[in-house]
Amino acid sequence: MAVLFLCDIEDAETWIERFRAALPEEEIRVFPEVGDRAAIDIALVAKPPAGELAKLPGLKLICSLWAGVDGLLRDPTFPRQVTLARLVDPYMTQAMSESALAHVMAAHRQLHTYRAQQAAGEWRMLQQPRSHDRRVGMLGLGALGTDAALKLKALGFDVAGWSRQPKSVPGIESFAGQDKLEAFLARTEILVCLIPLTVETRGLMNAKAFAALPRDAFVINLARGPLIVDHDLLAALDSGHLSGAVLDVFHAEPLPADHPYWRHPKVQITPHIAAISDVRSVVDVIADNIRGFRAGQPVRSRVDLTAGY
Ligand code: NAP
Repeated sequence: MAVLFLCDIEDAETWIERFRAALPEEEIRVFPEVGDRAAIDIALVAKPPAGELAKLPGLKLICSLWAGVDGLLRDPTFPRQVTLARLVDPYMTQAMSESALAHVMAAHRQLHTYRAQQAAGEWRMLQQPRSHDRRVGMLGLGALGTDAALKLKALGFDVAGWSRQPKSVPGIESFAGQDKLEAFLARTEILVCLIPLTVETRGLMNAKAFAALPRDAFVINLARGPLIVDHDLLAALDSGHLSGAVLDVFHAEPLPADHPYWRHPKVQITPHIAAISDVRSVVDVIADNIRGFRAGQPVRSRVDLTAGY
């Protein structure tokens, strides 16, 4: 039995060192020094080279260093018979809530408009809605969306969430399923996208969805770029229907230099940093899951390959 580290990431040496320290009982091999392939039963992955996982005949568990697994599942050779665990890390959850709260607060307090006024040398007070009159909508009420929703609720916002299954999260109005999407959007002034990219959610935020949001709504995408149809978002911003957008994730990353988002006055860009995998917590979370797996316990944060998340 051996663990293969199969990650194309910055600072791989630090990650490998930490995994070896956290799992001293495991033989941890590092791609491309694979050795006897049949001996490898666990893979640690982030951006693995396409086709490599399929070459490991004894593989039983794949642990993603990232929360989103859409990139892994895009590889047509991904071994779908093997258990896949995604990352659910309390520190990442905390980091994502910090990002969500920062952007919701900035939109709520109209900081983007004040910045534009400052650039124009304009001193003008805007009407300020109260937080409990401000309707925030979480597109996705999973590990990340629920934590952010509860923290926004604690700050006084009127929060609802949309998910596949109905939820009972205290104080958060639940909308579930495709037929409730329009009603959810219609009541949402600040939308936070925290939904995985799957066959069902690709392009979900399109012209129809933007039109369902009320005029002056603000969109924050912290999940995956292809949830949004870029052309439709730009049209909704340019027509004045949407007041602004914060985008952390994109169809192509890094965002190409000639993309209109870069220079759009209503768009704020961050380079996929809303909640990055942090070696200081992620290694311990994954090491615990691996120890449990070795002890015959159910794998935590198991991906439903049919649903795609
Ligand atoms: P999660 O726990 O799996 O939650 C996903 C949520 O989306 C669930 O509420 C799920 O509904 C809902 N959902 C999925 N498909 C749906 C559909 N077709 N219709 C309605 N609802 C649907 O995921 P998470 O840990 O919160 O992470 C969410 C995403 O954030 C990740 O997949 C990743 O892409 C992204 N992310 C981004 C960053 C960054 O730095 N930008 C960092 C980490 C993660 P149910 O609850 O009913 O299943």
